[in-house]
Amino acid sequence: MHEMSLSASLLAIVSDYAGRHHFSKVNTLRLSFGALSCIEPRSLELAFGVLSQGTPAQDARLEFDIQPVVVKCLTCERESASEEFPCPCPQCTSSEVILMKGTEELKLLEMDVD
Ligand SMILES: [Zn+2]
Repeated sequence: MHEMSLSASLLAIVSDYAGRHHFSKVNTLRLSFGALSCIEPRSLELAFGVLSQGTPAQDARLEFDIQPVVVKCLTCERESASEEFPCPCPQCTSSEVILMKGTEELKLLEMDVD
């Protein structure tokens, strides 16, 4: 499962920080990723919950900052938010649309620790 390896990488980052900054417990991890990045927040929480047992991140809460899909139309040259991609231009319905945002990979934005 994809979310297992993502959780493992997150935990590697957390334990690296824990080693350098000497905290004992992680309260919250704030994560960001694009809406099209194929990450399931629920699966990620589950995988993280399992893998974090016995680490400083055990029982940490995950917060998700999901980046919206943004497309740019090559016909009217406007950028719009969209629920999905591919899609026609929400403004002029042209199909000459390119993806600008929404596939960002998982990133750790902030960590609240004790
Ligand atoms: Zn357009």
